[in-house]
Amino acid sequence: MRTIVIVGAGCAGNTAAIYAARANLNPLVVAGNHPGGQLSLTTLIENYPGFPGGVDGPALVANMQRQAERFGAEYLPGAVIEADLSRRPFRLNVDGEWTEARTLIIASGASARWLGLASERRLIGHGVSSCATCDGFFFRGKKIMVVGGGDSAMEEAGFLARFGEEVTIVHRREGFRASKIMLDRTRANPKIRWLLNTVVEDIHDAEKGLVTGVSLRDVKSGRQWQQPVDGFFLAIGHVPNTAPFRGQIELDAEGYIVSQGGARTSVPGVFHAGDVQDRAYRQAVTAAGAGCMAAIEAERFLEAEGR
Ligand code: NAP
Repeated sequence: MRTIVIVGAGCAGNTAAIYAARANLNPLVVAGNHPGGQLSLTTLIENYPGFPGGVDGPALVANMQRQAERFGAEYLPGAVIEADLSRRPFRLNVDGEWTEARTLIIASGASARWLGLASERRLIGHGVSSCATCDGFFFRGKKIMVVGGGDSAMEEAGFLARFGEEVTIVHRREGFRASKIMLDRTRANPKIRWLLNTVVEDIHDAEKGLVTGVSLRDVKSGRQWQQPVDGFFLAIGHVPNTAPFRGQIELDAEGYIVSQGGARTSVPGVFHAGDVQDRAYRQAVTAAGAGCMAAIEAERFLEAEGR
């Protein structure tokens, strides 16, 4: 049985691991299917304090893991597929192997949301992507489409405009969730075009196994048309990775963990950290802070129990 198990190896999980390891709690980190979390899907991070010239996202998160390992944290590849939090020790099924934990920090993050089209699912990795920084390079000189109206869509469009011949942002309404500075920057980019009040109804050509175009609909006029496209990028938000914990701790309607204050969840001894609970800030620095809070709370919880 482990004193503390941390689920997730992104910014929040790794920071929790650094603090827990330095508190001699010998944490086990279940790294998940996407170790590194959202930071591993980015390039330059310019708003993480302490790096005046910016820092490479994957390098930052890899350094966090190395830092945690230096103090004794252990990393286990694989994902939690089932959990029993009804009694202590808590039990976690990691890819078929059960692990027991006296305390648990859930830092499993949130994954990209998809439109849900059958053609989209078939073309993921064949021209459909949720990660511009991972796949933008493949669309040098091509026509690219980005769906979404938040900061992610603006950031991805700007990044993709470095590669593509043109980038079209498709957004389902006229108002934006994106911040003004990101929106202004995107509007000033001559390679970026806009299709507002527009939704994507289908992506072609699943039969050929590559993206050749999309079917679009103007939601105001009802006009439908097709447009050629080579690369199709989704930036329509994220879904929290809480499926194994559903029905065991309090989650909100969208599946985010409901905080009971600090890093506490509805189950004593289970703590949250990062995007799995945070729908408001979702920054690397806030996730790191949340990981620190969760580890300190777990340590105090164990101390109150006589460890
Ligand atoms: P977001 O702010 O939630 O925006 C998601 C966008 O996708 C919205 O415009 C939404 O449209 C649209 N959308 C959602 N579901 C859709 C669907 N089924 N079909 C079509 N469109 C759909 O998500 P985000 O852009 O990923 O940003 C998340 C957080 O990270 C935000 O707090 C953001 O500020 C932050 N962020 C910051 C930076 C930065 O500062 N550098 C970069 C990226 C992200 P509606 O508006 O109509 O709902």
